[in-house]
Amino acid sequence: MGVSVSAPKLDLPSMMKFKQQGIDGNVKGVEFLMKKNKIDVISGKGKILGTGKVEVAGNDGKTQTIETKNIVIATGSDIAKLKGIEIDEKRIVSSTGALSLDKVPEKLLIVGAGVIGLELGSVWHRLGAQVMVVEFLDRILPGNDAEVAKQFQRILEKQGFAFKLGAKVTAVDTSGKTLIAHIEPAAGGTAEKLEADVVLVSIGRVPYTEGLGLKEAGVALDNRGRVQIDTHFATNVKGVYAIGDVVAGPMLAHKAEDEGVAVAEILAGQAGHVNYEVIPSVVYTTPEVSAVGKTEEELKQAGITYTVGKFPFTANGRSKVNQTTEGFVKVLADAKTDRVLGVHIVGREAGEMIHEAGRPDGIWRFRRGPGTHLPRPPDPLRSHQGSRACSRQALDPYVSHAIGEGRIGTTLMMRRLLQPVWVLLAVIFLIEAWLWDHLEPIVAWFVALIPLRAFKAWLAERVDTLSPAMTLIVFIVPVVPLFPLKLVAIWLLAHEYWMTAIITFILQIPGRRRRRFHLRRDTAEIA
Ligand SMILES: Cc1cc2nc3c(=O)[nH]c(=O)nc-3n(C[C@H](O)[C@H](O)[C@H](O)COP(=O)(O)OP(=O)(O)OC[C@H]3O[C@@H](n4cnc5c(N)ncnc54)[C@H](O)[C@@H]3O)c2cc1C
Repeated sequence: MGVSVSAPKLDLPSMMKFKQQGIDGNVKGVEFLMKKNKIDVISGKGKILGTGKVEVAGNDGKTQTIETKNIVIATGSDIAKLKGIEIDEKRIVSSTGALSLDKVPEKLLIVGAGVIGLELGSVWHRLGAQVMVVEFLDRILPGNDAEVAKQFQRILEKQGFAFKLGAKVTAVDTSGKTLIAHIEPAAGGTAEKLEADVVLVSIGRVPYTEGLGLKEAGVALDNRGRVQIDTHFATNVKGVYAIGDVVAGPMLAHKAEDEGVAVAEILAGQAGHVNYEVIPSVVYTTPEVSAVGKTEEELKQAGITYTVGKFPFTANGRSKVNQTTEGFVKVLADAKTDRVLGVHIVGREAGEMIHEAGRPDGIWRFRRGPGTHLPRPPDPLRSHQGSRACSRQALDPYVSHAIGEGRIGTTLMMRRLLQPVWVLLAVIFLIEAWLWDHLEPIVAWFVALIPLRAFKAWLAERVDTLSPAMTLIVFIVPVVPLFPLKLVAIWLLAHEYWMTAIITFILQIPGRRRRRFHLRRDTAEIA
């Protein structure tokens, strides 16, 4: 690229210090927000005694009982453990230990090719570790779109990752200087042994309810140990609610947060709601993988006929220049309605791009919009600015269809066509109201330009005889339903209500509306 830099040098203790500073800053930030919003925080382990009663064993050794109107369980999740393998957070680690290793392992063995395993594997691989991933299933990233996962696996293999799919780790021998993992094919067969300096167990997470007293309080759990709730986050015990990782749904921070907001709104007597269909997920590896909505496999299973729009980053100008051409964007849409059902991205900045698809005022909005399920064309100004163009191009088949045939498309086209027309009509009407005499020759001049003789003669005759009132009926009335507010503005002008008319006109300028829309979206993104 024309700029030379010396080889990077790793200073792991400084990196860990930097990480800790980030954590401390965030924790302090939340503490500050609690104080600012006058929320009392009691540090300790909570146990639900029943409706309206929580016992807290404080960190200071004291126990107190708190009386409250409502209780919200948000105790999160814990690592899923592997039978017979003891996690010491030094050599056999969970995600917690893997975030604080004191040196880069020469060989890192990861058990489970899910999001957390691949994210942490990606980190340590970039810092110099050899990474081997053992996965029980015959694919990586279970739950993600299979085609995306396959492509992602190829990318990781090209980087140097090794995968052992359809295999399970049954034991880890810790007696020697290096760890020896015993690996068997998932379907059974001959076992093999693999050496590693560190083994990361990342086979999933389970809801955390230990010591919470749920059994004694009578709070029902489902067959996977998650707190059972209804659509309003209420458990079976009056006044006890639950949200986040401890209930069903994707274990994601933004899902937990959204549920927190919703339950607070419900408890305040408002209508809290979470749209579970548009919860994006991101795998923060290099490159990233992101998704929102349904996968191809889920659509097949549900018997939904769908079409696929795909666009590779190899064909994107900015990606080519930046040499980040790995990956693609994939859009799944209903074959009959073009309603977008899922968007999947693998590639650089996939975690940012996915919000174009999942944003509340984006294509998904129309799933709940009045009378239509058509996708909205993404804003071309933004999407052309870079690799985001790929998501626009993958969407193209649906966008053009939407504009050509859909209700929203038709409305947009009509609007564009009619913009100059209403301005012209306003001018005609104003001139008519005050200067009819001067208008006549102008209209006659226009009529003279019409090439069809018979029509010209007919129109010329009418123009001669039309009164201003008749002109109003002929030219204005038929278009009244199309833009009533504009005609109100014209009427106001005609009656010399200057200020009101000008305000009414300004309110309708479409450019203003568009600018407001951008502003709102940009603000949301910054937030
Ligand atoms: C390594 C890792 C990476 C992740 N990366 C992402 C990511 O990139 N994006 C994303 O969206 N999500 C990510 N997640 C998931 C995300 O952290 C969780 O979905 C989210 O934190 C769940 O929020 P929660 O409020 O339900 O639980 P938590 O955030 O886990 O909070 C639960 C809290 O309750 C406390 N608690 C538990 N029991 C009691 C008790 N009896 N009394 C008092 N307090 C108690 C716990 O100490 C904890 O502080 C990641 C998770 C892990 C482990």
